[in-house]
Amino acid sequence: MTGSKLTDSKALVILSGGQDSTTCAALAVQQFAEVHAVTFDYQQRHQIELESAIAVAQALHLKSHEVSAIGSILKSTSPLVSHSPLEEYASVDQLPGGVEPTFIPGRNLLFLTLAANRAVCLGIQDIFIGVCETDFAGYWDCRQRFINAMTIALGEGFYGQADAFRIHTPLMSLTKAASVHLAQTALGDRFESILSLTHTCYAGVKGGCGKCHACLLRDRGFREAGIADPIWKFRPSIVGHEGLAE
Ligand code: ZN
Repeated sequence: MTGSKLTDSKALVILSGGQDSTTCAALAVQQFAEVHAVTFDYQQRHQIELESAIAVAQALHLKSHEVSAIGSILKSTSPLVSHSPLEEYASVDQLPGGVEPTFIPGRNLLFLTLAANRAVCLGIQDIFIGVCETDFAGYWDCRQRFINAMTIALGEGFYGQADAFRIHTPLMSLTKAASVHLAQTALGDRFESILSLTHTCYAGVKGGCGKCHACLLRDRGFREAGIADPIWKFRPSIVGHEGLAE
């Protein structure tokens, strides 16, 4: 094997500033002595995502955090990177099946490739990404099958060795409610303060709009977990624990 020496004590997290990648970062901190993070600025419509990622990385005392500006190379009709209108839904039951219009082709493929490049520079072979196929919304690059293929492609492409990288996907088979419980276990008494820094809403609304695909799934997860989402304090329409199902 050529390139930087790989060790087992360091990990790199792809940190978007959302609930899932933040949970991954918390788990990585539990498992690895040294945790680094990379966030990609791909000219997403809402800068609040980047601000959340920076705040989370600081709060978790990560060893390093790079915000990598990759410009507008990810082109798509997705409202996350264009001015296409964002779908709103009255409730989680009204979410359509199939591929969501928010899907950005190639995003996780590109992110993992760039993260692997940074991992080599940092002497890391363990990469965390917060993908989940339970609520995958037709995002093909959120499935374990894709992660398995990328693990082999990156290992072969970077080192000529299929198992050179380990891509950790601790949320892959969890429901959103189970992810909430996992974050609570990993963060302990910092759960509220750190989750309140995260941002998930596709509309860029602090505290969440409550109507977009991302908000509806996050809200459902917390309600099913029986836990008030710390970001609800920023949402005027939800007061205290009223957002919880009886
Ligand atoms: Zn929203």
